[in-house]
Amino acid sequence: MKRHTSHGNRLLAALPAADLGLLAPYFKQVSLKQDAVLVRAGDRNEQVYFPHSGTISFMLDMPNGQTVATSVIGHEGAVGMLGPSRSTTTAVVRVAGIASQISASRFHEAFGQSNAIEHAVQTHMRAVLMQFQHVAACNALHLVEARMARWLLHIHDRIDGNVIPLTQEALSELLGVRRTTVTLVVQNLRASGAVRSARRGLVEIARPRLEEAACECYEVMRQKFEQIFPLDTTTPRIQAATGRDTPCDRVSLLAK
Ligand SMILES: [Zn+2]
Repeated sequence: MKRHTSHGNRLLAALPAADLGLLAPYFKQVSLKQDAVLVRAGDRNEQVYFPHSGTISFMLDMPNGQTVATSVIGHEGAVGMLGPSRSTTTAVVRVAGIASQISASRFHEAFGQSNAIEHAVQTHMRAVLMQFQHVAACNALHLVEARMARWLLHIHDRIDGNVIPLTQEALSELLGVRRTTVTLVVQNLRASGAVRSARRGLVEIARPRLEEAACECYEVMRQKFEQIFPLDTTTPRIQAATGRDTPCDRVSLLAK
């Protein structure tokens, strides 16, 4: 899934120009800063974010303060599309990037006028639900080392390069385990060559070894993801100067 890791949101790029035109005038380009919380569980979705780069994880917060990740999204997804309802998860920026931001009320106005936007929401929800289901099974069945390798691969799919900016604390939150466990697991992954180095919040990976260390969930989820997002022929663009997206040609992304 190593494609379009720098620019362009796939959901937006798949919209016909007329449908994108319902949203584009209201977009603001924003920076997604590492560790920023875009929405907390229980809060209303006031803004919708369409990442063009970077990675966001959806986290479940447990009453004892522990957290665990349920899914990650990047340029293929969005945050807050379910609108004025309260968010059931907390959305945290794991890897910094940029996004197009629009108010939830503006987005839902456009949603009510466009079958293509409604389809984009459904596509996103299918992808997130698929991840929820697999992550639940993976958490119950697979060892923490294999699960960490899987999360690193999911994030690597959505960024450029082999160095992933993730602190031990962030890894601990993703996996729902103590930092001491993270330290041990990273040591094991280093010993196997799957992780080349991990210091100062930067994890350098060796992709082929990491794929060997991950459970089969990674490949199963990757294949299902490709079924949800068919062959991507998008050529999305973004205009940093205006902070607005340019209309893009319709593509096959939402054709299913
Ligand atoms: Zn698994």
